[in-house]
Amino acid sequence: MTTRPILIHPDPRLKKRCDPVTEITEELRMAASDMLETMYDAPGVGLAGPQVGLMTRILVMDCVKDPEAAPRPMVLMNPEVTWASEALNTYEEGCLSIPEQYAEVTRPAEVKVRWLALDGSEREEHFAGLWATCVQHEIDHLNGKLFIDYLTPLKRQLITRKMEKLKRERARL
Ligand SMILES: [Zn+2]
Repeated sequence: MTTRPILIHPDPRLKKRCDPVTEITEELRMAASDMLETMYDAPGVGLAGPQVGLMTRILVMDCVKDPEAAPRPMVLMNPEVTWASEALNTYEEGCLSIPEQYAEVTRPAEVKVRWLALDGSEREEHFAGLWATCVQHEIDHLNGKLFIDYLTPLKRQLITRKMEKLKRERARL
């Protein structure tokens, strides 16, 4: 396992719709374990393929917050929301591709998601709390959507300018 560099917004790859997984190759398995390592190292609770330049519908997440509890690394391929609650939840979201910027985003409080697992089986699970927020945020990435797309154009522009500046600074190092 190795970490991969995380793309920082703005980047055209973060705005593209990703392709479905058609075959679970060894390459994809390796990418999944690298993505988990990259996410834990960051640290973050979720990471989607395009954030490491992989334009495939794959995401990883682990929203276990308690450091005493066992980790629960999950790999979801071709994830689809099959049900969303009418009840909404507002959560202060952040993103590894938009470092140190946070904003409140309102989404369905609970969702059911169906996906393809690494062993080729189809899974479905009901997510609530941070898990629900995280899985929706990561699925958005697979559709080229970022959490700042839920904000007003002015707020979005402000954050984008900060990120452009951050990228310039990093490029100089
Ligand atoms: Zn994100």
